Amino acid sequence: MRTAHGWWRERDGLILRLEDEAGGVGFGEVAPLPWFGTETLAEAEALLAKLAGVVDAGWGEQIEERYGCVRFALSSALGRESGVPMVQRRPVAALLPAGKAACEAADQALEAGYVAFKWKVGVLDDADEWVMLDDLLARLPGHAKLRLDANGAWTTRRAGKWLARCAERPIEFVEQPCFAETSQGAARQIQSDDALLGLAADYPTPIALDESVAGLPSLRAWLARGWRGIVVVKPALAGDPAGVLEVLAKYQADAVFSSALETGVGRQAALRMAFAFNGPQSRALGFGMGPLFLDGRFEGMPPVPFLGLEAMTHLKAEVLWNALN
Ligand SMILES: [Mg+2]
Repeated sequence: MRTAHGWWRERDGLILRLEDEAGGVGFGEVAPLPWFGTETLAEAEALLAKLAGVVDAGWGEQIEERYGCVRFALSSALGRESGVPMVQRRPVAALLPAGKAACEAADQALEAGYVAFKWKVGVLDDADEWVMLDDLLARLPGHAKLRLDANGAWTTRRAGKWLARCAERPIEFVEQPCFAETSQGAARQIQSDDALLGLAADYPTPIALDESVAGLPSLRAWLARGWRGIVVVKPALAGDPAGVLEVLAKYQADAVFSSALETGVGRQAALRMAFAFNGPQSRALGFGMGPLFLDGRFEGMPPVPFLGLEAMTHLKAEVLWNALN
């Protein structure tokens, strides 16, 4: 997969297998994205090593919120997600490749029945991408939705130029136009936050925060600050689903649920969380990246334009677990 930060070839993570005293088994996935501000894989491993193989009832209080990936994994392995109706279906946003290849991919996705699309931008020169954007929009029927994701690649000024263009075009939202520097000190953080708030106030196209709200502490902080735009929730990074859903409900957040490129184990739990959310808008699921893994056993879901939880019921986490051993 290619983003504004280059090629991403390997997915490192952990699959957890928990067994209770009665012999019941549950699985969870730790799928960190450290450049989103999550814990690193090494930190997750060190934390889990401290548990020495035993997870007791008080884990929710013992493990800090900044370990969102571990909290998500433990929660799903313990089967803590709430019951969700199985009848709902939602559109899935097909992830289009960066650059010119987007148009051909869009044609294929349209043919396959997709009605929502996401294109990674900030990869080439703006002038080239603007031409491609219009090519792309010309191909999409009126009912289709297109969202753009810059992965924070733009400066505030560049983001302003893009948002001015988007204002005259039917763009669902622009995701993370500027990069929020979470690790570069408080001064830079505030500057970057203010830039995002300013852009949201100055242009009509909604802005979605993704990298900025990857962990529950930052999600809560942005919503508490009065962010009225969209928030992208990557369940695999966010933490314990029940706690995250509570924060989203408290602020009536407009949330989009999205993959952190986890395997089927994490994706099953992530989708369960997405379907448990009742937001002001029903937005397409950000799980349309197509097959990710060379070994198909790790996918866990078919590449389909509309998704319900029934698509995941066939997944046997045990099969993935055994494939790793
Ligand atoms: Mg994104």
